[in-house]
Amino acid sequence: MDYVSTRNSSNSFKFKDVFIKGLADDGGLFIPKSLHKYEYDDLLELKNLEYSELAKKIIKPFIGDFMSKNDLSKIIDKSYSVFRKKNVVNLIEVGDRSVLELFHGPTLAFKDVAMQLLGNFYEYYLNSENEKINIVVATSGDTGAAAIDAIKGKNNANIFVLHPNNRISPVQRKLMTTGKEKNVFNIAVKGNFDDCQNLVKAMFADKTFAKEIKMSGVNSINWARIIAQSVYYFYSYFLINDNEKPVNFSVPTGNFGDVYAGYLAKKIGLPVNKFIVATNQNDILHRAISKGTYDIENVSETITPSMDIQIASNFERLIYDLKDQSGKKTNEVMKNIKEKGKYIIDNKILDKINIDFLSSRMDENEVLETIKNVYENFNIVLDPHSAIGYGAFDKVNLNGSNIVLATAHPCKFPNAIEKAINVKAKLPKELAFVLDEKENYDIIENNLDKIKQHIKKRV
Ligand SMILES: *Cc1c(COP(=O)(O)O)cnc(C)c1O
Repeated sequence: MDYVSTRNSSNSFKFKDVFIKGLADDGGLFIPKSLHKYEYDDLLELKNLEYSELAKKIIKPFIGDFMSKNDLSKIIDKSYSVFRKKNVVNLIEVGDRSVLELFHGPTLAFKDVAMQLLGNFYEYYLNSENEKINIVVATSGDTGAAAIDAIKGKNNANIFVLHPNNRISPVQRKLMTTGKEKNVFNIAVKGNFDDCQNLVKAMFADKTFAKEIKMSGVNSINWARIIAQSVYYFYSYFLINDNEKPVNFSVPTGNFGDVYAGYLAKKIGLPVNKFIVATNQNDILHRAISKGTYDIENVSETITPSMDIQIASNFERLIYDLKDQSGKKTNEVMKNIKEKGKYIIDNKILDKINIDFLSSRMDENEVLETIKNVYENFNIVLDPHSAIGYGAFDKVNLNGSNIVLATAHPCKFPNAIEKAINVKAKLPKELAFVLDEKENYDIIENNLDKIKQHIKKRV
């Protein structure tokens, strides 16, 4: 499979470049030049596979000759053996909809599903090329933990994770800071998540520094994460037996990565009716999809920190899909967003978007109310992010089988859960030990030079 950049489709890339670079040199995102499509008979063949076997089938066409079928098979088995469920995910009925639990990995959020695979892809690549890299990543909690767990103890890679000091929950922090591996470095920045992200961006932009430390990233625009996430859309579709009815997915959304993975599954043949892009009060995507105005506003802190975004990076892939062949138009749109903070989607494009996507938005009280209602009616505790996905089906009118993606375990957000239902959300017993472990992290000022020096000393 060949890939192109969303901003200029004249050059082709192989999966290896796409995976290692993350972002194209022209600032665009990588996207396949063309896609294969599963027909009805192909779907029947995929239907009864175990999760790992299904993942092997779905992922192989995307990676080409990056590794052999046999190596991929071993890596997928290894990646998914660390989950607490044999089939990685778990589907439960909650009232009139299904809830797909994606949080049974080592750090209790859906990001583990893709990140465990990425960690093993890195190891494979670095061993075969005999290279060494330093991964630097900013986190509002979940990405950093998933990335650390995926990279810890691996040869030839260090990982530096910047989180905003005192602004993530203690459980989120402890999942990152209690490991004993020598290649993991946690930095608590005296600032907010945007500061962390700006520091990482500035380090990438400083080409001399980035080259010197062989810097690499694992953020949500990495295409390898998207393909790994497509698998559970297929898997959960096959678990719904009544395939005569249309299937809809509601996806708690921040950077548009997870829901784009679902859309990719649809493009290669999964019969999905609609995806609901479910946002919190930082609702740029809801405004874009419901009204056609994609305009940047300030971010407010919410009880769903992993969805507190100002722009949704992966939305660029959808713009390219719907608007472009050459990358020219996407390039223009992205330039406008950067300069004017705004993109008005014309009606023809918006109609196209609405064939596949609807959207909804929830404020803080609605999130707490949803957690409370689901608990009182069904005795199930949803984490705040998953609650936004669950409640979305009450805000739009859709027939058929409805699947909610549950993206995090409630124990990661104990304060919100306590506020909603006065219950203490407990960690799974396999992970309870992290609460008493010694933590290891350095608190550093929001200062680019100081952070760079700190990293340089440790690479
Ligand atoms: C990252 C995250 C999201 C948002 O996913 P995107 O791919 O950025 O849209 C939602 N919920 C949780 C718990 C997350 O960690």
